[in-house]
Amino acid sequence: MEKNYNLNEIEKQMQDFWRKENIYQFDRNAGGEIYSIDTPPPTVSGSLHIGHLFSYTQAEIIARFRRMQGQNVFYPFGFDDNGLPTERLVEREEGIKAANIPRSEFNEKCKTTIIKYENEFKEFWQSLGFSVDWSCQYQTISPDVCKISQSLFLDLVKKGKAYVKESPVLWCTECVTSIAQAELNTSDTDSTFIYIPFIVDGITLPVATTRPELLYGCVCLFVNPNDERYTHFINRKASVPLYNYEIPILTDNKVEPDKGTGVVMCATFGDSTDAEWYCKYSLPYKKIINTNGYIEDDVPFISGLKVEAARTEIINKLRENGLIIKTETITHTVGTHERCGKPIEIISSRQWYIDVMSNKERFLSIADEINWYPESMKNRYIAWVENLKWDWCISRQRYFGVPFPVWYCKNCGKYVTADEEQLPINPLETAYSGKCQCGAEVFIPETAVFDTWATSSITPQINERLGLKLTPMSMRTHAHEIIRTWTFYTIVRSLYHTGKLPWKDLMICGFVLAKKGEKISKSKNNNEFNPKHLIATYSADVLRYWTAGARLGSDTFFSTEDLNISRRFITKLYNACKFAIFHLDDFAFSTPILLPVDKWIIERTNEVILKSSKLLYEYEIGSARHEIDNLFWKDFCDNYLEIIKERLYKPEVHGTEERKSGQYALYYSLLNILKLYAIYIPHITEYIYQEFFKQHIKIKSIHLLKWENPYKTDENLIAFGEQLKSVISDMRKYKTENNLSMRAEMPKIVIQTDFIDWFKQTEKDIKACSNAKEICYIYM
Ligand SMILES: [Zn+2]
Ligand SMILES: [Zn+2]
Repeated sequence: MEKNYNLNEIEKQMQDFWRKENIYQFDRNAGGEIYSIDTPPPTVSGSLHIGHLFSYTQAEIIARFRRMQGQNVFYPFGFDDNGLPTERLVEREEGIKAANIPRSEFNEKCKTTIIKYENEFKEFWQSLGFSVDWSCQYQTISPDVCKISQSLFLDLVKKGKAYVKESPVLWCTECVTSIAQAELNTSDTDSTFIYIPFIVDGITLPVATTRPELLYGCVCLFVNPNDERYTHFINRKASVPLYNYEIPILTDNKVEPDKGTGVVMCATFGDSTDAEWYCKYSLPYKKIINTNGYIEDDVPFISGLKVEAARTEIINKLRENGLIIKTETITHTVGTHERCGKPIEIISSRQWYIDVMSNKERFLSIADEINWYPESMKNRYIAWVENLKWDWCISRQRYFGVPFPVWYCKNCGKYVTADEEQLPINPLETAYSGKCQCGAEVFIPETAVFDTWATSSITPQINERLGLKLTPMSMRTHAHEIIRTWTFYTIVRSLYHTGKLPWKDLMICGFVLAKKGEKISKSKNNNEFNPKHLIATYSADVLRYWTAGARLGSDTFFSTEDLNISRRFITKLYNACKFAIFHLDDFAFSTPILLPVDKWIIERTNEVILKSSKLLYEYEIGSARHEIDNLFWKDFCDNYLEIIKERLYKPEVHGTEERKSGQYALYYSLLNILKLYAIYIPHITEYIYQEFFKQHIKIKSIHLLKWENPYKTDENLIAFGEQLKSVISDMRKYKTENNLSMRAEMPKIVIQTDFIDWFKQTEKDIKACSNAKEICYIYM
């Protein structure tokens, strides 16, 4: 072994070795239980950040753990490389707007960009030593995945779970597309209530609104049926100020009497309640805002203005006409688009939906059939499902995505779908060849594409494209912010397509925060948090060890001091291995008669194997690492190596058989400590294995070994070890307190114990490491 361990250089060598030897290749013929992992395909929307490194590595540790338990681990990887996030990346990089260049040209630019990023991503995961089988890689935009996505869409259409309708939909005027509720962020902002006088038979009826620019779209007023102030107004007509047309006054329980004046203006559409009332009461539709966020041409006073400018203008107009009673600053909730941060409008348009509202109960009850790790994450899912207000809109008026295999009859407007054999198909490129029920033969292709979640929600089926039966998959993993999207949508799709769970276990990881409450986002990707830079500076093992420091699901702060701690650990491990291996040079594989202290370190190692595997089966990578650290630092380094040191160096004093006993226990405990750590720090453990253990074990890689499976541990030996440890620590404490060197002579040590025999057999070792002249005993 080299004197010093050159982290980056050796890591690169180990990665090359794994690649060359196909160490992590999934063996479909191996038989045995398959442990399949549904890895989140990272969105190709910019560079990876340390949050990715954190959560993906935590899952990778689990893949390695399961492999070392003897399971046949299916660990594929994919890229989610279409849809709005990818389009925005390409627009940003190229300085273009998709809407301003030909669709095919834009899509070509997208294809070039994603290849560049995917290569970069793959290299990055490889530089972290990921044990992925890259031959199972998928892209959500590739033809084979498009085919699956379109085919499953048709399955939903057949089952009546996907439908198209003209109705109010959440709309981003910046991205010029419909969006789903899951892409909506809400925040509280200051806004102004404008009190405007509506007139009912000559009587003024004040109404407060935050959206006066929608006045021309006002289709009725609502009051609460129990609000006695307004009983006599119900079903009468009110005149709209400024525009002077009449609208009805209706009742609905949703009206809050203490908000504003208790009379609500319903415009198409100011918010989701307006949209709900529009459907519930079959109200007329007056379009005020177009898809780009401008006021429609036929709206008096404000046509052609952007929404904010229109609001200012209409307030001026109302004021000029003496039509503002008062104004009031309030705080209210506004919805913004998660991708661009711009306020969301609601407009009516023809969109495709997946029905989720009618099966909410089932989506809630299935939560109990999935194992959530940590369990608390289930509540986030339940809160989201309970809060759902809209069916899942899956059509996006965008360009680079999976096309809908759909056309519309030019004569009657009905839709027709492609045949299964035609998939994948782009209706913009291939005409529909059949006839409509109405007899017409001319069709217009659907130009919208699928919401990217509509494809990433079927990753279990995408993983099955290689001919494996995987569903329900063993495990899905991701960070907690996409429970409302990826978890929820995948559950919806799985229930509709298969009637079953998509996976058995859900492993939910936390975020990395720069400081309290501040997520390290892609946009603030400075050098300090740049994962590539960190790997180059600290090495993959150092970073991997750090990722396992946090409790599963908990957010963690990033500090380079933590990485220095990891680095010190790697050095310590290397030096301890170097010391041990030096003394194992002449190790003969016979089983000697073991001394109690040697039996103890073996038992203690077995105990940690049992404890940490139990924790790892519950995905507690952090707590498991803590157990292993205790074994390595406290038992193995601080005590065991110190106790047996002289026995290893001086067989002439301690005896040859005694030395062999020490070698045997040292070999066993060191090898098993390396196997425990192999899942966290695969490079250094592999290197040490290659340097020494491989010649004896004759298996290509440490990562192909299995963890021991001890039946149970001997409690007495563990208790003896604890007593021995406290003897040593009391002795050290005594010397420190009395300013004595650790080598200073001790006239006498008195040990109170119920393991006198074992202590007597350990006397030479204790004397050697304490320099005690005499040891006597008191029964406990
Ligand atoms: Zn947007
Ligand atoms: Zn027709």
